[in-house]
Amino acid sequence: MSIRAAVLRSPGDVRVEDVELDPPQGGEVLVRVAAAGVCHSDLHLVDGVLGEGRWPMVLGHEGAGVVEAIGPDVDRVAVGDRVVLCWVPSCRKCAACRAGRPTLCVPAAAASLAGTLLDGTSRLRLPDGTSLQHGLMSACLAERTVVPAAGAIPLPDGLPLWQAALLGCGVMTGFGAVRNVARVEPGESVVVIGLGGVGLQVLAAAKLAGAAPIVAVDRDAAKLELALGRGADAAVDTSQEKRPVRALRTLTDGGADHAFEVVGLPETMLLAWKSLRPGATAVVIGIAAKGAELSLPALELSIDKGIRGSFYGSGDPAADLPELARLATRGELDLAGVVTHRDALDGVGAAFERLRRGEGARTVLVLDEALAYT
Ligand SMILES: [Zn+2]
Ligand SMILES: [Zn+2]
Repeated sequence: MSIRAAVLRSPGDVRVEDVELDPPQGGEVLVRVAAAGVCHSDLHLVDGVLGEGRWPMVLGHEGAGVVEAIGPDVDRVAVGDRVVLCWVPSCRKCAACRAGRPTLCVPAAAASLAGTLLDGTSRLRLPDGTSLQHGLMSACLAERTVVPAAGAIPLPDGLPLWQAALLGCGVMTGFGAVRNVARVEPGESVVVIGLGGVGLQVLAAAKLAGAAPIVAVDRDAAKLELALGRGADAAVDTSQEKRPVRALRTLTDGGADHAFEVVGLPETMLLAWKSLRPGATAVVIGIAAKGAELSLPALELSIDKGIRGSFYGSGDPAADLPELARLATRGELDLAGVVTHRDALDGVGAAFERLRRGEGARTVLVLDEALAYT
């Protein structure tokens, strides 16, 4: 079938155009996309900083919709199911999956990097026959997409799909880092560096965990305002504050119990490290450009400080996503409030420009008006 999609033709060249989508094969489903968020990793792909050869590609990996058809050997989802897309459809068989680390699933990572589905092939092509990559096995900045069945997680009723879309990347990533990696406890101090779409979810999860104080750090005053309105106890504007480390240590009574870096730059990773108290660990969520290196004051390792990464929430999205959806339907997790812009698919270029300028939190593109608000 022919669908409209946001296609990365080459670095910097994103076009909304008609592409061909083949039917789902064994273990795959066809999803009519209701809405999709525009994530910073999409921008990294557009800018070509995640490595060579990742184009041409249909972008998008934070989406929700309705299952329209299923291929052979699919039993976990059915036609008509409302689903959120999960961009690591883990195999449940490889060494990482058996070790309880499904977000590090080996075959899922290989297919994702190759831009294919799990069988190593693509269902997408340009009208001239050129094969297209599936962005993070989701390719949901498009009217429809074919994904592995494990990448379509059924949703409970009561959560509008334009909000549910956010669960699939930003919320899973932010909440997972707080709950599965840092395991924030009530009364612990938290520093969040970078208050974009994911950083705001880190803040929300820390708030829900009872953290205090929570200090938001950004160079954009509007984002800090948003963070203060959503429960941050203090804000540090690094475009104004000349000594951010001292400010953070003062605000956290000598050093934070947890610091989350949600930017992807060595400087902000170092700031996260320096804001910690002895014995604390920084969690890096931001995705650095390929080749970037981080240098740390090594002596501080001797006071039990640590730094570690987190990938897609480092938990089990198949279990975590429905639980996050239930939190949202109960009103304990506000999704609508982090969406600063809503637009049609044609607004994708403007959304990338805002991300590049560091302006606004999340843009959600509505692919299907009728479905998105159900
Ligand atoms: Zn993302
Ligand atoms: Zn696996």
